[in-house]
Order: sequence, then structure tokens, then C-alpha cells
Amino acid sequence: MSDNKNKRPRLFPPKTSGGKTSGADKSPKTGFSLSWVYLIIIGALAYMLYTGQDASGGINKEVSLTEFQRYVMNGYTNRVVANTSENTISLIVKPDSIRAVFGMGTDRTGKEPTITANYANSESVEALVAAARSAKQPVSLTYKKGNGMLWNLLMSLLPIVVLVALWMFVLRRMGGGVGGGIMGVGKSRAKLFEKGSDNTGITFKDVAGQEGAKQEVKEIVDFLKNPQKYTALGGKIPKGALLVGPPGTGKTLLAKAVAGEADVPFFSLAGSDFVEMFVGVGASRVRDLFKQAKAKAPSIIFIDEIDAIGRARGSRIATGANDERESTLNQLLTEMDGFDTNSGVIIMAATNRVEVLDKALLRAGRFDRQIHVDLPDMKERRDIFGVHLKPIKLGGDIDIDFLARQTPGFSGADIANVCNEAALIAARHNHSAVIKQDFLDAVDRIVGGLEKKSKVMTTEEKHAIAIHEAGHASVSWLTRYGNPLVKVTIVPRGQSLGAAWYLPEERSITLREQMLDELCSLLAGRAAEELFTGHISTGALSDIERATKLAFSMVAYYGMSDALPNLCYYTNEEYAFSKPYGDSTAAKIDEEVQRIISEQYERAKRILLDNSKGHAELASLLEEREVVFTEDVERIFGKRHQGIEH
Ligand code: ADP
Ligand code: ZN
Repeated sequence: MSDNKNKRPRLFPPKTSGGKTSGADKSPKTGFSLSWVYLIIIGALAYMLYTGQDASGGINKEVSLTEFQRYVMNGYTNRVVANTSENTISLIVKPDSIRAVFGMGTDRTGKEPTITANYANSESVEALVAAARSAKQPVSLTYKKGNGMLWNLLMSLLPIVVLVALWMFVLRRMGGGVGGGIMGVGKSRAKLFEKGSDNTGITFKDVAGQEGAKQEVKEIVDFLKNPQKYTALGGKIPKGALLVGPPGTGKTLLAKAVAGEADVPFFSLAGSDFVEMFVGVGASRVRDLFKQAKAKAPSIIFIDEIDAIGRARGSRIATGANDERESTLNQLLTEMDGFDTNSGVIIMAATNRVEVLDKALLRAGRFDRQIHVDLPDMKERRDIFGVHLKPIKLGGDIDIDFLARQTPGFSGADIANVCNEAALIAARHNHSAVIKQDFLDAVDRIVGGLEKKSKVMTTEEKHAIAIHEAGHASVSWLTRYGNPLVKVTIVPRGQSLGAAWYLPEERSITLREQMLDELCSLLAGRAAEELFTGHISTGALSDIERATKLAFSMVAYYGMSDALPNLCYYTNEEYAFSKPYGDSTAAKIDEEVQRIISEQYERAKRILLDNSKGHAELASLLEEREVVFTEDVERIFGKRHQGIEH
């Protein structure tokens, strides 16, 4: 359950697959693109033309003049048409003779199949018709001029014309809206909030809590307001900032506040606005967006849900928009590289899943700043309630602290929702003001709706999470080399439930003991669950995943185990099909990894049992306050580095 963001494992060798996106690009595409549909339609039309089926309703067969005469004499027709500009003569086969002539039914020949021959002079045509009439096979003869080549050409172009017309029609529908139409497809759909419009009233005052994120974002305002201050010293203004956090935590709100405070135009759109079925639309929208933003610089571009386009390339997800998404992303990268750092355009983007983003987006000079916007803890929730309760007429029994306590795991948006819902419920009950019970009903209603979607927790879960997180915090405090704790919370964040922040020590080499202590702290969450709740849970997934990797790297890469000392089996080949060791070594590695892990797990349990009173105190503090800081842990366990020795 711990997701300590600062504690990146420097110990692991670089991942060989993760960072490389260009290599993965060549992977086969399962995507199904709409252009295939066009190809199939055109192919089918071409086939129909080739087999001689035309719009007039039948196939045509070319024969010699003598044979043509035989068809006429046999009475297969009563209509002959001579084309004087092409010198061809055609007969239209009578319906009852079609099978005799072609050997197939009208379903394959068409209603009016024809037979055509070339003639040298018009006398031969006259003679042919006269002969037929005298043989009691009367036929009508009509002469026709022209068409010929030109007509055929037109006929063959017709399907293409129809297709283009159809395509334009669909494009127009998709383009939609004012100024849409076919010319508007490549235009960006960004909503522009400018000075004076009523949307930019938002300032930092409207964003409650989120002090850390606000601090970072204020710097961006400063960049936009006083760029000279930074550029004068040779610094470069960052191009992009990525707001990372669960939905509804106020990322859009923060970005709008930046625009409001800096008093600059603000272009806002969602990642999915770029992605269309039509090839090239996304890319040209990106181009257009940057052009507009540059024209209005200084300005801010805000792309919500950037994962819609920023997903790692080549990640083989079979959607029709796959290729399109990639080219859109490429265009975005190009634009971000292309514009001058000091041009006064800052791009902000929001996502709740950084881990799926293409690494190229996070590289220096692009979204090189990440601002974490997390679910609010109890105090922050109180502040958010403060903001959203303002417009509501409250009854006398409302206690903001109580409301904050009742809403663990709620996001800012959920809280805004609770306030609104409470007002509606009060109105329904004809209350003259919104009372406590209305809020409780609103919370119930929203929890009911959220249960599946988000991480609202039950009281038992909250207890288990507190035990778990207190386990991490205690052990890392009590071990000699554990990372110093900054804060622990049990508010759910991202994929994990609770989280703990630690300050990693600055060190360029890591001792074996340090790695073991880290392992021990990682495993302490589950150890505490086992000891003090009697159950273990899935909440420890990311802990044990990291622990396993860490232990594996100790054994296989750093040569730190007793059974395989001083051996490094690290291979930096990208696609290692064979392992650089044999089966017996593989078995030894597995054994050593298991041994190290279980030793540290037992050690964690021992430390926790020896300090069970302190752990329990920490856990109940966490359960009550949801967040615990260094001072609290110090008060409980005393100063650090006098703890258990190995
Ligand atoms: P996100 O972009 O992170 O999904 P939004 O910024 O769209 O979330 O937030 C939705 C709404 O929730 C906001 O309009 C606001 O009413 C409310 N809200 C979210 N976080 C906060 C906060 N920290 N302070 C005040 N209101 C908030
Ligand atoms: Zn954990």
C-alpha cells in the first residue's frame, strides 16, 4: 500500500523494455482503420466495371459481325442500336433469350444484356437488318450518335464522384458546430477563455487545500508574468507541466486558476478532442492549436486527459484510432520541441495515469514538471467544504469538521457534489435551511453511486489500511537505515490505498544493510496486517512487487547473497531470449530471493511485536487523523537511529 514517491529504487538496473518506445513502434498493428473501408468499396466498384456490368442494366459481350448476324437471325433480339461515331452495333437480348445466349440467369447478366460488334460501313448494318426482316425476324434499328469514349469515361468516374461526395458529407457531419464543415475539421476545438469573459474569474482562492500543487503552479504564473526575471539569468522557462492525480481533485480548476491569476488567454480542450477517425485530423488540430496560442502569447494551453493521445506508442491496443493517435502524439511532440522556450506559451496537461504516458512526453523540454494533485486529507476536505458551503444557506447544526470526517476518500468534485445534493434534498423536504441530516443523506447517496468507481472505504478497510501504513512507518523509523519519514496518510491515492512519503537519503552507493532495511520496511505493511488484524490482503501488492524486484536485484545483479556471492547476471540486451545462467543457478537465485524475503518478513514481524504498543498508537492516530507527520512518529518512538541493530 505504500507508494512513496520520493523513494525511487536507484538500485535496479535500468529497465530494458520500458524506456524504449521507438523499438516497439515496429510491432504489428492490429488496428482497423477506416481507410480500409474506402479501399474495399473502390475495389468492389472497379471489379464491377471490369466485369462489364454497367449502370444501364446488363453485361455486354463483344463478338464478330458474322456472329452478331447469327444472333439476330436466331431471333434473340428485337432491338438493334447502331452507334455511328464508334462504328459499333449492339443488340439488346430479349429477356426470354438471355439464358440461351449467355447460359446464365438475369441475376448475373442484368436485365438488359447486350451484344456488340464493330462494323466497317453503314451499308452492312442496313443489309443485316433487311436480311433479318425478310427472314421474319423483325428488329427495330435506331441510330445513336456520340457518347462513346467520353460517356464511358464519365461512367467510370461516377462512382468516384459519388464516393467523394459521400466522404465530404460525413466529414461535414463530424466537423460539426459553428465554423465546422469540411474546412473546420483540422481546426483545433479548444475553448478559449480570455480576459473579460466570465469564465476566468477563478483564482487560487477558489482552490482549497492542495498547498503543494498550488505552490508549484504559482511559479508558473510567475514565469508568465515576469519572464525576464528568469531569462535574464540565462534560465529557460519550462514548456510544460503535467498535473497528475485522480479525477475530480481540481486539476482543471488549478489550470484555470493559473490562467486567471496570470491574466492570460487560456486554451482548454480534452485529449479526446484530437482523436478522430479521419487520418491527419488530430495532427492538424494540434498544429492549429499551437498557432493560435502563439498568436496570443503569453498564453496557456490546457489539455485535459492527455492520456487519450499520450499513451505509449506501439502499445498494441486494437482501436481504430490507433495510428491516428500516434500521429497526433508525434505532432504534439514536434510542436513542443519546435517552439521557442521563451515564446510565452506554457502547456499544462492533466492525467490520472502517468504510467501509461509515452516516455517521450515526459522528457526534458516537454512536460518536464510533474505536479501531484492528490485526494484531500481531512483538513483539506474541511477547506474544500468551506469553499462549497459558502453559497448554501446552512442550518445551525452544521459542523464542518464533522462533514470532513464523514467523507474519507472523497475528491473535491465529490464534495462539491455533496454540497449541491444536500441543498437539493433540503429543498425537496421543504427545509428552510440545509441541515446536518440533509448532508448525511447526500453523502450516503454519493457513496452509493461511487462505491464501484472510486476508492471510498468502509470503516474496517480504513482500520486495516491504518494498521498497514503504521507498519511501514514504524519499521522504517526503527531500522538503522530506513528512510526518514515525511508523512503517512491513509487517504487512497492512485492505484494504492494509503501512502507514505519518505525522504530518501542522498547517496550514490547503497550498502547491503540499507537494502535489507528497505526490504524490511516494504514488507512491514503486510506483516502488520498479519499480526494485528489476523488477515493479509491484496493491499500489499505493490509492496511485495517492489520487494521481490529489490531482492532479485540483490541476488542476481549485485552479487550480495551467500549462495551466489560476487556474481552479476545482468544483461543489457534488449531482447534477451536466453538467460546468462544455467538452470541450477536459476534455482539458486530463486531460493536466495525467497530466503532474503522471508528473513526480512520475519524480521519486520519481530520489530513490530517488540514495538506493538507504539505501532498501535500510530495506527489509531492515523485512523483518527488520516495523516501523520514526522513529529508524531518521533513523539511515539523517540528520536531515530538508536533503534534495533542487526
Ligand atoms: P479534475 O480536472 O481533477 O478532474 P476538476 O478541476 O474538474 O477536477 O474539479 C471538478 C470540480 O470539483 C471543480 O469544479 C470544483 O468545484 C471541485 N473541486 C475539486 N477540487 C477542488 C478544490 N481543491 N477546491 C475546491 N473545489 C474543488
Ligand atoms: Zn504498503
